[in-house]
Amino acid sequence: MPVIPRSNLSQSRARFLNPKYSPVKALPMELWHHIVKFAADEVESRSLARCLSAVSPGLRNFFLHLAFPSLTLHGDQAYILKDLCNGGLQTVSAFAFTKTLVVAAHAEDIASSCAAAAQAAHNLASLSAICPDVHHIRSSRTLQCISASFQHFAPLARRPHLRHFGLYLQIPTRFSKTDCLDLSELDFVTSLVQLHSLTLRVSGGLSFAVDEPILLPPSLTRLHVTPAVLGLIHRASWSQAQDLLVVHIEDTRKRSQLKGSSESLAAAALTSALAPALPAWTLRLRDCRLFAVIIDYTAIVLVGELSSLECFDFQPKSIAIAPEEIALLERKAIRRSSTIANQPAPDADTASRLAEFAGPLPALAELLPLLKYLLGRFPKLHVLRLGHRSPRLRGLLVSSQDSQPEHLFLRTALLPYLLPSLSLWSFAIDDGTEPVHHLPTCGLCSDLSPGTRSPTCSHLHFATLLSNRQADHPDQIHITHIPQILQVHNRLTTVGPLF
Ligand SMILES: [Zn+2]
Repeated sequence: MPVIPRSNLSQSRARFLNPKYSPVKALPMELWHHIVKFAADEVESRSLARCLSAVSPGLRNFFLHLAFPSLTLHGDQAYILKDLCNGGLQTVSAFAFTKTLVVAAHAEDIASSCAAAAQAAHNLASLSAICPDVHHIRSSRTLQCISASFQHFAPLARRPHLRHFGLYLQIPTRFSKTDCLDLSELDFVTSLVQLHSLTLRVSGGLSFAVDEPILLPPSLTRLHVTPAVLGLIHRASWSQAQDLLVVHIEDTRKRSQLKGSSESLAAAALTSALAPALPAWTLRLRDCRLFAVIIDYTAIVLVGELSSLECFDFQPKSIAIAPEEIALLERKAIRRSSTIANQPAPDADTASRLAEFAGPLPALAELLPLLKYLLGRFPKLHVLRLGHRSPRLRGLLVSSQDSQPEHLFLRTALLPYLLPSLSLWSFAIDDGTEPVHHLPTCGLCSDLSPGTRSPTCSHLHFATLLSNRQADHPDQIHITHIPQILQVHNRLTTVGPLF
């Protein structure tokens, strides 16, 4: 082994410790990014970035970019960060490069914790605020405290790079006439002029109010709200949000949390919240998701006006429609007079063109008249996802062996109403692993032999999946991750290596 002279060693050491020296330059930047990002997992990747940043002052600035691209703060960490920032103390400069932040704290503290965290993260692009459920409202003062604390969200309006904001707050108490949560302070979202995605998943067994309806920023492309919040949005928002493409409406309430435990009242409230938005949505909305909502006849007629829809995810919890209204929907359904509608019932050949179905099929018979009415009215619809969120129907899920005949039955029943634009449908399964089916009536593949798909159609499938994945991550938390985050929050956590 060659002996390196001592003088050379001290020279190289001195060179290495020189802040101006950067061994990073010896390798292309892309390679360093790959080395860090392709570590075993995200935790390893960040750990590696932090280790490399400690090698020399020259490397520190480069690798701090990759050390905390996203952070989840909960328990003590959220409170300590708040105290550090309120006390004017310096926090780790790596936060300056954090893009995605999830903060979990009690409802009264969530706004101030978010504001403090955002103060440390100058380049924040995505902020999600998660509160544990408020199970007990001791007095009206509890709700007043929560309302007043939301004023601390105001400094977020000065975050110029914020692209996504989400607030998750559930008050799962039985409905009380006297309880009302004032959400007026959420009007700070109007000032987030760069915001693309907004989630306000706020709901519970009480009323919600605002001094003035909330005006959404015109830059919005994706909106995820509960029916309660939808009713608080200013109607001018819909005409101003020229790029709004995706709307996700989700009702998280149980029956005991509904006003008067009445489904028809809940359905009427949703309909009146939908009505002002429809003229603008008809022109622009590409993707509509209705989760666990209670829907009535008028709401179905309104949704039927969304003629620009390309993706429709329909998973109602209950249908508050009278039998004569069901009959009316069936009568007003548009049947195809083309050759598609005249196809015979699926024989073995036709059936073989369907992709193999390997998942359980929710009980969808109740939705059949609604689908007959809607499907003929969506000339651009490419992807349809169906499900039923009713607890009553959960026990009726069929086994995977039985599902293929039911699937064929549904397709046969809907065949006269299917437009050639509809290429794919799937049945919602909770774990998100449902198979996607290619329909034999797909207009993109009609010229091909059975069992084959056109490249355009295949591309459509992947493009849809990809766009959904990109849109849901990392700027939104998948809903299944939320209980896990809150569980961590409820434990007494120690201060981690962040501080
Ligand atoms: Zn196709």
